[in-house]
Amino acid sequence: MFDLNKVVRPNVLKMSAYSSARSEFSGVASVWLDANENPFTKEWNRYPDPLQLDLKKQIAPLKKIEANQIFIGNGSDEAIDLLVRGFCRPQQDYILQCSPTYGVYQVSAAIQDIEVKDIPLTEDFQLNLPAVLEEVKEPNCKVTFICSPNNPTGNCIAADDIKKVLSVASGLVVVDEAYIDFAQEADSFSNWLNKYPNLVVLQTLSKAWGLAAVRFGMAFAPSPIIDILNKIKPPYNIPGPSQKVIAEALKNKALVKTEIASIIAERAFIVDALKQLKRVEVVYPTDANFILVKLKDPRDTYNALANQGIIVRDRSKVVNGCLRISVGTRKENELLIAALQAIDE
Ligand SMILES: *Cc1c(COP(=O)(O)O)cnc(C)c1O
Repeated sequence: MFDLNKVVRPNVLKMSAYSSARSEFSGVASVWLDANENPFTKEWNRYPDPLQLDLKKQIAPLKKIEANQIFIGNGSDEAIDLLVRGFCRPQQDYILQCSPTYGVYQVSAAIQDIEVKDIPLTEDFQLNLPAVLEEVKEPNCKVTFICSPNNPTGNCIAADDIKKVLSVASGLVVVDEAYIDFAQEADSFSNWLNKYPNLVVLQTLSKAWGLAAVRFGMAFAPSPIIDILNKIKPPYNIPGPSQKVIAEALKNKALVKTEIASIIAERAFIVDALKQLKRVEVVYPTDANFILVKLKDPRDTYNALANQGIIVRDRSKVVNGCLRISVGTRKENELLIAALQAIDE
């Protein structure tokens, strides 16, 4: 059924990766005269490991997968861009997305002159399964993006539906799990890498891990797909300082766990308070660190909050009447709620 060699772009299949100095020799040595670096020792005068092997060894046991099933990107946005560029031929192939969803999929496609087919989510923000199953069989439907928990709606997509899509898709199915750490009931699709040869799972350290500035995203996939991403990525895509910060942060899983628990508790606090407000029409169920809320007057509410220095995301053009509110600290959340109560009449 799924044949990777037919899905990847033919030119990408044929090409060889740029062979950097650090990829030609990576053993132990004392004199490095291979990369035109400044030899005077400063902390950052050497190029970083192009394949970030130490980090992958740290991540593999955390995620219970093999190091060769991990690609590390400059944010998961880089992985999204590489998936589109590596698999879709401009003006011939297309990606599939289910709106409302994360905006980067369609921007990455637009840059490459690749069409976006959109099969909107149903009213309860789930896949329109019959339509999606039909579409993903098309040989030119190269990459299907399913975001779960979905941004901006906040809910998880039914896992059984995603599995059905994986079983019939002729191309890649990318499950974007940027917010999986906030979903208490959901298991990562990274558990299914050995079952589905066309599965790619995206995760990031930008949300739950609190490292958005470091730019560190991961794609988990069967190793033949990872090999393709490695072949087309910029040679040194993860800066040395970032690799160092990540290696330290990954050792402190306990801290992240307490922060996640606190964000989940704060989320419930905001949801309860929002439900008391007259201007609120719907508070959608959320498995993420943000809340989608439908208001009678989203733009006025946005402006009133902004006037008090509180910035939320106006998604009313994407989901009718809706603002998206990230969960903050207790103090920030109290300021938000107080500001909303003050204008609620
Ligand atoms: C924030 C976000 C990302 C991007 O994460 P980076 O790793 O910071 O690039 C990817 N997907 C979704 C759905 C997001 O909301």
